Amino acid sequence: MESIVHYTFSAEERNKQYVQIKVTIPVSKDITLVHLPSWRPGRYELGNFAKNINRFRVYNDANKPIPFQKVSKDTWEVVTSATDFISVQYNYYASELNAGSTFLSDNQLYVNPVNCCVYTEETQHLPCEVDLSIPETWKVATSLNGEFSKRRAAHFDELADSPFICSHQLQVETYLVNDTKFYVWFNGEIKVDWDRILPDFEAFSIKQIEKFIEFPVKEYHFLIQILPTKAYHGVEHCKSTVITLGPTHDIFKGLYKELLGVSSHELYHSWNVKAIRPAAMWPYDFKKENYSELGYIYEGITTYMGDLFLLKSGVFTLDQYLTEFNVQLQKHFDNPARFNYSVAQSSFDTWLDGYVPGAPGRKVSIYTEGCLLAFVTDLKIREATSNKYGLDEVMKRLYFEFPMQGKGISESDYKTTLENVSGISFDSFFSDFIHGTNPYESILTESLEFLGLELTHKPASLYSEGRLGMKLLPLGKSFYLTAMYPGGPAELGGLRIGDEIIAINGYVLNNDIESWFAYFDEDIKEITFIREGKIRSVQLPEVQRFFYVTYAVKPIENKNSAQEKALKLWME
Ligand SMILES: [Zn+2]
Repeated sequence: MESIVHYTFSAEERNKQYVQIKVTIPVSKDITLVHLPSWRPGRYELGNFAKNINRFRVYNDANKPIPFQKVSKDTWEVVTSATDFISVQYNYYASELNAGSTFLSDNQLYVNPVNCCVYTEETQHLPCEVDLSIPETWKVATSLNGEFSKRRAAHFDELADSPFICSHQLQVETYLVNDTKFYVWFNGEIKVDWDRILPDFEAFSIKQIEKFIEFPVKEYHFLIQILPTKAYHGVEHCKSTVITLGPTHDIFKGLYKELLGVSSHELYHSWNVKAIRPAAMWPYDFKKENYSELGYIYEGITTYMGDLFLLKSGVFTLDQYLTEFNVQLQKHFDNPARFNYSVAQSSFDTWLDGYVPGAPGRKVSIYTEGCLLAFVTDLKIREATSNKYGLDEVMKRLYFEFPMQGKGISESDYKTTLENVSGISFDSFFSDFIHGTNPYESILTESLEFLGLELTHKPASLYSEGRLGMKLLPLGKSFYLTAMYPGGPAELGGLRIGDEIIAINGYVLNNDIESWFAYFDEDIKEITFIREGKIRSVQLPEVQRFFYVTYAVKPIENKNSAQEKALKLWME
């Protein structure tokens, strides 16, 4: 038996959406544990992919079934005393299409191997061969080496990190930066405006590589799945990224800035998280939670840099950049959890509820808080070094120091590098903002001022938000309460999340709640709503304050020359 692990994927049962998978694995022990990953890098929560496994069976080297039993939700114990290898066969239900899933339809076989490929610890380091049983008219988009339906990976971790799309709809163009070849693949119904997209992609790729000096790999694939329905999702890999975006008709219109934003973000991950990675995830352990408090680095700095590189490369104007920055600012200020739970604690807890709204006021976002703190960190370094260095210098040094030597990073590695580059202490920054819940207003104002920018605010334009402290979603003719600001009239008056508001002062709503609020204004006496199947009413108290204030960053009118210079250098 050769020392390889062999994977076969069959796309024959397309209408049932079951991918047939066969894995041949050498064995040397009497008992072998076969694992399926329980999570995928990029999404730091359990994915429990084994829920999609059907008809699991195991055969020996004489092609006879052998006994096995499940010993955990995604581990099978197989009796392997009398065989040199096992053939593990199962069907994987592939009905979900997002940037990290596996999907089978008439048009494509799209696989994220980390979802659906079993492995053993004894053979995890062995080379993998992949055979794809797909129609001859299809193309294959992937970073895996090989030709068409025969592919290979150096080991299981590379396979797990190498999604592939097989489809007849694939379109591709390439560009070259230094010695790295970039492939831009589109799958699905889409008229691609190559003349627009290629120069933009090339521009942000050049700029990111310039700041890091080198790109970690020789070939990189943007695997872009276009959907006819609303979609926005990206997942990073060492040599590729999968992006889902839709609807089709809006891609080169309103969604184009999202396409650029998510693509630049995912490319930055090639260094930040695929190379510079928390020590707790080096290597990834697919069997259980890989807790880390460093989400403000791997997602926060990436969120900040993804958009900043669009500005630095001239793909975004300053106005366009600030529009995106304002979105993060607003998310931060609209989340009262910022007073309760730090970004480090929230990072640890992504494994618990990191990708759902969760309990109101409980946690913050590693993307939003991390992005704003990355901005402040960048500006603190720029100020301390008279614009000589920024956060990009810190990331470059981390890249050359840690992954290159086969190591992950800790908080103190990051903090020490920040302090070495800037020459100033980050003690209070870490205790107050990374591990603390101090308000951001003063540090943001200070950083913005250095660039000749200012933080402005005005009352929210919606009456429900600004005056009553509640966020609403239309639900037919009525409105569903989704969030309340602490200390606002909605909360003090006894409303709660989930209430369905149906009338104001007895007048039944017809999808026009804001108009009724504005009309009655100070005479709002009665809010009628449905809760637990029963109609109820409350009166809201008056509170002389504004809630959900709208924040925005704007350039100040008369910048001084130091500010002009700092802004120019930050944008370079
Ligand atoms: Zn990310």
